[in-house]
Amino acid sequence: MRIAIIGGSLAGLFAATLLTQDGHDVIVYERSLHGLEGRGAGLLGKRETFAVLRAAGCEHVARVGVVARERIVFGDTGPTIDQKMPPQMQISWDYIYRVFRQRMANGSYLLDRKVEQLREEADRVVVRFSDGSETAADLVIGADGIASVARATVDSQAAANVYAGYVGWRGLLPERDLPGFAASDLLERFAYFRMPHSHVLGFLVPGPNGETKPGDRRYNWVWYRPAIGPTARDDVLTDREGRIHPYSLPPGAISERARERLVDDAKRLLPRSFVAAVEATRQPFVQGIFDYETERMISQRIALVGDAAFVVRPHTGMGIAKAAADAMALRKHLASAPLGEALQQYGRERRQAGGAIAASGRELGAHLV
Ligand SMILES: Cc1cc2nc3c(=O)[nH]c(=O)nc-3n(C[C@H](O)[C@H](O)[C@H](O)COP(=O)(O)OP(=O)(O)OC[C@H]3O[C@@H](n4cnc5c(N)ncnc54)[C@H](O)[C@@H]3O)c2cc1C
Repeated sequence: MRIAIIGGSLAGLFAATLLTQDGHDVIVYERSLHGLEGRGAGLLGKRETFAVLRAAGCEHVARVGVVARERIVFGDTGPTIDQKMPPQMQISWDYIYRVFRQRMANGSYLLDRKVEQLREEADRVVVRFSDGSETAADLVIGADGIASVARATVDSQAAANVYAGYVGWRGLLPERDLPGFAASDLLERFAYFRMPHSHVLGFLVPGPNGETKPGDRRYNWVWYRPAIGPTARDDVLTDREGRIHPYSLPPGAISERARERLVDDAKRLLPRSFVAAVEATRQPFVQGIFDYETERMISQRIALVGDAAFVVRPHTGMGIAKAAADAMALRKHLASAPLGEALQQYGRERRQAGGAIAASGRELGAHLV
């Protein structure tokens, strides 16, 4: 089949790699001008993520991680170290992205191709781009994330993303930038501190090129904080030029004033090792936390994967694992049944899974509002 994938982040790349392996003619259309290199942070390795790496012949990526074997929990009486934590593999988003992107053949991953509309016809889907040009495919995969345009074609009644009332401030910094006291508390461990309606966590991930040697890795932290109501949310998501972004601000977009405010708040509220991490982060970024659950994952010739179908809270640690499982399920069904039937089976299987992950995320985040 001729398959067009809308969105070239991880869900799109996972699906593209597996379906290309199965002999389909796949092209990924990504709206960003220069690709997504250098924009990701860290993630926790999950079974589904390792499975997609294996299926794609990228097992080596699973070995490029940092393993934490202890947890440090900060409390009123000081930190407690839990040595019984099951070992946890921490991976770099950038590294996975780069490896999958490099595997795409020339001409099969196109940048600066923003899709504006999909039109489903009896035997094809017409994809229209923002410059007015069009292409057609037998199957379209909507891997276009939280602001998906594919959703609206699959389900004309699709609801909006629902803001959860809090945001995640994030930072990624060279481990060498942490002062000694913070390095000895935080490095090699999963670190956590909880306060009313807020928590912060941190862990090591590989360096930008997959470096795992001590000294060359990066420290990844996330601080969840309430920003209740649209005004507070818009305030957080206003960039250095005064523009309000709907969902997140990437590294470099936060104003110096907002960064100073973040550091001041950290000094008031966080244990000193986390303060040091926040202070040493030159370009923090921030993500609004939203929920979205699709009613329909498929139509005649379109399938949604990843965040286009379900936006789940980051506390589940399942955003990427879910995208991986979607891509693997879609491949499995397309390989064993005609298109219409395969899509029905895919939709049934993954809608149930997405709903369960979304529900567990809401439960995990309930204390934050
Ligand atoms: C730059 C970036 C960095 C991330 N870093 C992390 C991380 O460090 N840790 C983590 O756990 N999660 C991270 N995520 C989120 C993570 O990728 C998702 O939770 C999960 O993998 C599912 O991703 P997705 O591919 O479905 O959606 P997304 O990752 O949101 O990707 C959607 C893609 O579709 C493209 N797109 C959107 N609309 C259009 C359109 N109309 N036409 C063409 N293209 C379009 C977007 O530019 C984007 O590349 C990151 C996402 C991005 C985009």
